[in-house]
Formats: sequence, structure tokens, C-alpha cells
Amino acid sequence: MLERLLNIPHQEEVLDLFDGEDIAGCKVNIRFPGRPIFTAHADTVCSPLDYDKPLHKNGPIIRRPGGILGADDRAGCFLIHCYRKRINYIITRDEECGCLGSRDLVKEWDFVNPPCFICLDRRGKNDLIGSNNYYCNTDLEEAIGEYGFIPVTGSISDADEFNELAPSCNLSIGYYNQHTKNEFLNVDILKTVPVLGMSEGLKDRKFDMPEQPKWNKWTKYSSWNSYSGSSWTGVEDYDKYDDLEDSLYGDSSYVQCDICGSFCKESTFLHYEGYRFCPTCCEEISAHVIR
Ligand SMILES: [Zn+2]
Ligand SMILES: [Zn+2]
Repeated sequence: MLERLLNIPHQEEVLDLFDGEDIAGCKVNIRFPGRPIFTAHADTVCSPLDYDKPLHKNGPIIRRPGGILGADDRAGCFLIHCYRKRINYIITRDEECGCLGSRDLVKEWDFVNPPCFICLDRRGKNDLIGSNNYYCNTDLEEAIGEYGFIPVTGSISDADEFNELAPSCNLSIGYYNQHTKNEFLNVDILKTVPVLGMSEGLKDRKFDMPEQPKWNKWTKYSSWNSYSGSSWTGVEDYDKYDDLEDSLYGDSSYVQCDICGSFCKESTFLHYEGYRFCPTCCEEISAHVIR
């Protein structure tokens, strides 16, 4: 199923692999009251040309030589597919062009809110995007930390929308260098994400809402080629974000990594072939050179 998911060009076809209600073009399946809701997005930044290229496996590593793999976020879809009979889940659409599916879904939301939303859509291993991005407060971070995840700062994800309903987070699932032709997936990391453990362990827990869900007005562009950072989408909301501008974006020495989208000091970037690489992405790329 993993390879099948990695080879499906259209998000609609991925959404069709899941049972549930169609709401705002997303697939929603909530059958276990009081348990967390896991989410993944069905779209990728791949082009049709990428899907023409065959996958290559070497031990636990899968890549697509010459093309973008698209494990962001078909790896997340795969995890949810594995556990779909036993967990609450949402498969969203159009995350890569600004979380459009989750944004529309939140507007139409008519369910009891879960203890938390857990997005399976982060590169690497053991990262937990939570309170640093105002997805949740530290209480949810601590609870998920018990499963081996460590809080870091991330870029945009569907958690930027779901955090309006309930505390949210985004967890590593083993892909690296997403949005680039160097993308690869470590299946060993993917397989050890404790989905069922969290589904059971976080049941009926109460977590604080994030104090300032302020990242959710950012929009990122859909493809690697046209990717040029983020832009405001809610001009009328400018006032709300004054402190954010002051603390981070107002400081022009912070700019966005072209690989992972996270914000870092301009001076820390490596510039290569017209792209900006943040220190974390440099580290990952050099630690996992695959030819
Ligand atoms: Zn992505
Ligand atoms: Zn993603």
C-alpha cells in the first residue's frame, strides 16, 4: 500500500481509498469518542513527470531518483490507512497550497472536539511541532513527549487550522528533504510512529488551548518551483499579528528556509543554486547523502 500511495498522482484517488464523510473535500472518519484525531494530507508537490519515474528501495530507504518522492504526505496517509479501522482520522486536500482543505473543513466543523489533533506531516524523526508554533500548550507536548517526541519549531501545516478547534501538533514520520528531488523516506522511522499507543493513551485527556494561534494566516505556495516563502492572506487581521511581526517577522533578519519553510536568522543560511538552506536542512542533507 505504501508504494501504491506513493505512485498515485491525484489527491482525489487517495481520498477515495478512505471511508468516511466527505466534508469540504476532505475525508472525515470519527467513530471513537474522546480519542485524538489523526490527520494527513492527500496532495503532494509532485508534478506528473515525477510520477513517471520509478521508486527505488535500498533497505528501509525509499526514494524516486530524478523526481520528488511525495512521501510528504503520502507517508502520513499510509500510516492512517494502516490503522484506519481503529482510530479517528481526517485526510485533507490541498495542504501544500495553503491548507485550503483543513481551512474549509474547520469552517464547516460540526463534531464534538477531540482531546487533540495529531498531524502526521513532519520531516525527520521524533520532532513534535507544538507550542513553539502555537499549535498547543506545553501540556500536550509533555503528554506526547512520553512517546519519544521532542518539541521543535516548524513551518506551516494543517495544525495551523485544526488548532482553532482543539490543541494540535505535528509529528515526524520519517521523510526528509521534502519538496526536493533529494526527498527520501525511512520506512523504519515511519513504522515506529506509535499511532495506536497515542490513540489509547491520550483518550479523554484534557489539554489547554493554545494561547495565540497566530501562524494560521500564512499561505505557502504550492510547488517547489514557484515557492517563494509566505504571504499574508488576512490583511484585515493585521492588528492581531502585531506582536508576531514584532517578535519574528518584523525582524527582517529572519527569513524562511526554501527547503522546510522554517524561519531562521538570515546569517545562518547556506545559499546554494539560488536556494536558501537553513542549518537543520544542511545537516540533514549532509547526514543522508544518497546517490
Ligand atoms: Zn510539503
Ligand atoms: Zn506536508
